[in-house]
Amino acid sequence: MVLQDLGRRINAAVTDLTRAPTLDEKAFDGMIKTISNALAEADVNIKLVANLRKTIKASVKFHELPPHANKKRIIQKAVFDALVDIVDPHQKEYVPKKGKSNVIMFVGLQGAGKTTTCTKLARWYQARGFKTCLVCADTFRAGAFDQLKQNATKAKIPYYGSLTQTDPVVVARDGVEKFKKERFEIIIVDTSGRHHQEDALFAEMVEIQTAVQPHQTIMVLDASIGQAAESQSRAFKETADFGAIIITKTDGAAAGGGAISAVAATHTPIVFIGTGEHLLDLEKFNPQSFVSKLLG
Ligand code: GDP
Repeated sequence: MVLQDLGRRINAAVTDLTRAPTLDEKAFDGMIKTISNALAEADVNIKLVANLRKTIKASVKFHELPPHANKKRIIQKAVFDALVDIVDPHQKEYVPKKGKSNVIMFVGLQGAGKTTTCTKLARWYQARGFKTCLVCADTFRAGAFDQLKQNATKAKIPYYGSLTQTDPVVVARDGVEKFKKERFEIIIVDTSGRHHQEDALFAEMVEIQTAVQPHQTIMVLDASIGQAAESQSRAFKETADFGAIIITKTDGAAAGGGAISAVAATHTPIVFIGTGEHLLDLEKFNPQSFVSKLLG
């Protein structure tokens, strides 16, 4: 189920209810059930769905509503707020400062979209007047440096990497040191992933983190991750303590409910979403506007 379908189903549930001949508590419960089913099918974590049910139910007290209350508005708002709550961890994201070197490190599994997203984010900051560069510390995946080089060249972003150095920690440290000396303001470090969570990956992440001391660590999650998102994001959080999430491939067939659930599992904000394979396919994420857009 794609994200738009989820939005349509939620909207339809609210509209059906408000058009029902008798807008009573039973019909309201039915609407909550329909919305919950749609969210569960979109892979939103089961516990979150249960919480949302309770929240919506508690925020509309049928017996206490004045006779002429606009029930439709009240119900719409309750649903909107409950959905915002799922994607809003109420945590502030790191805001890079002009005139100093801000180091941003990416983590995530192989194929999640790290390398692609690094360049997108670099371009995003570059377009906003930051002196921006990229460091490729992915020495694990053959071709990762070439891919980053090609992307960076296209976007006219300076980059650093090595074809001969196999230790990612050395590459990361050297690259960050060089760019700090050159007074770059945004230094984005791409790290390697693995196909699965594994000790070697986690050990490497910690070593790179210690070496480059990032101001922000961003976890990249593929929108299609499904219910595995919770345990995966928790495991990454425990090791790399990332402070932000980017969800990629939101243009694909997955509804992204799993990836969205990572927010609640780790109390970490989504900062951007990837909306395609191209350099400009990156959107700033904001909980309210995301839900507004979802509901059309
Ligand atoms: P990495 O192994 O984590 O570095 O992943 P890559 O950056 O190589 O991305 C893996 C694949 O996902 C590539 O084919 C990318 O073009 C694709 N990709 C990344 N982000 C997006 C996105 O937002 N939308 C789509 N459709 N594809 C994406």
